[in-house]
Amino acid sequence: MEKYPKTIMEFEKNFNTEEACREYLFNLRWPDGFRCPRCSHGKAWPLKGALYQCAKCNSKVSVIAGTIFHGTHKPLILWFRAIWWLTGQKNGASAVTIQKIMGLGSYKTAWVWLQKLRRAMVTPGRDNLSGVVEVDETYVGGNKPGKRGRDAKGKALVVIAAEVNDSNIGRIRLHRIRDASSDSLSDAINKTVNKGSVIRTDKWRGYNGLESIGYVHEIVRQSEEVGEDLLPNCHRVASLLKRWLLGTHQGAVSQEHLDYYLDEFTFRFNRRTSTHRGKLFYRLLQNAVRIEPVTFDQMKKNVRGARLAKHYT
Ligand SMILES: [Zn+2]
Repeated sequence: MEKYPKTIMEFEKNFNTEEACREYLFNLRWPDGFRCPRCSHGKAWPLKGALYQCAKCNSKVSVIAGTIFHGTHKPLILWFRAIWWLTGQKNGASAVTIQKIMGLGSYKTAWVWLQKLRRAMVTPGRDNLSGVVEVDETYVGGNKPGKRGRDAKGKALVVIAAEVNDSNIGRIRLHRIRDASSDSLSDAINKTVNKGSVIRTDKWRGYNGLESIGYVHEIVRQSEEVGEDLLPNCHRVASLLKRWLLGTHQGAVSQEHLDYYLDEFTFRFNRRTSTHRGKLFYRLLQNAVRIEPVTFDQMKKNVRGARLAKHYT
């Protein structure tokens, strides 16, 4: 059962000690009870702090080992507060804000925390989009719209896929692509939309091959220009995305790390109608104990971290 705080009062009451935070992580990591990562045995003795000892093979297992909290020198209580803040705010928070609010000593720590948490915003094995899906591209960064199929000159090309639910937008996926070629677009759609779905696009020739790879293709607009005249749902997503990058992050997102910001935007957008923000808090922590930890060096080299941790494979 999903157990999460619904209000700040509940949050403060439930997570006021390291033990309480650890216990929450324990239950997220082992919802069916402890399981030894080495021998799969189901019984363990609690040692000091976050440590447990397997009753069969005697290995010592830390609740946070192999999670995004692996090796942290900061208390979990502080991490939980940062996560509560990040998920509670409609637009999230920048590293500067997190640094100030949490009283972190350096900007780098706040930046690293946010980068780690963004990797936990993609649920491992999440479902693809389905049904009727609008697909269009937009340029992020730079002032002028670029030309399709050519070098974007310092701008990132992002393909937007948005489910059409009557007059509303359903779930979305955002994907940075190298160019607007048929290969790049087909690959992005393949990774994000179930076969058999209806894909609505404009007349751009990069979408011509969709039928041959298993989609129903509807051309709903005759234009071929990018950036100015997007399909309606994609247009809305693109404007919100750009406003968020400019507002919360003051446009200071490097191309290199853009993918993770796209993940964060998607995480929040797809949960915009959640009754309780606590649900986002829960989901983020649940993913945080399931994906492989990334180090600062890996982040600099832009290694994707949203992979299932070894103890889950
Ligand atoms: Zn064991």
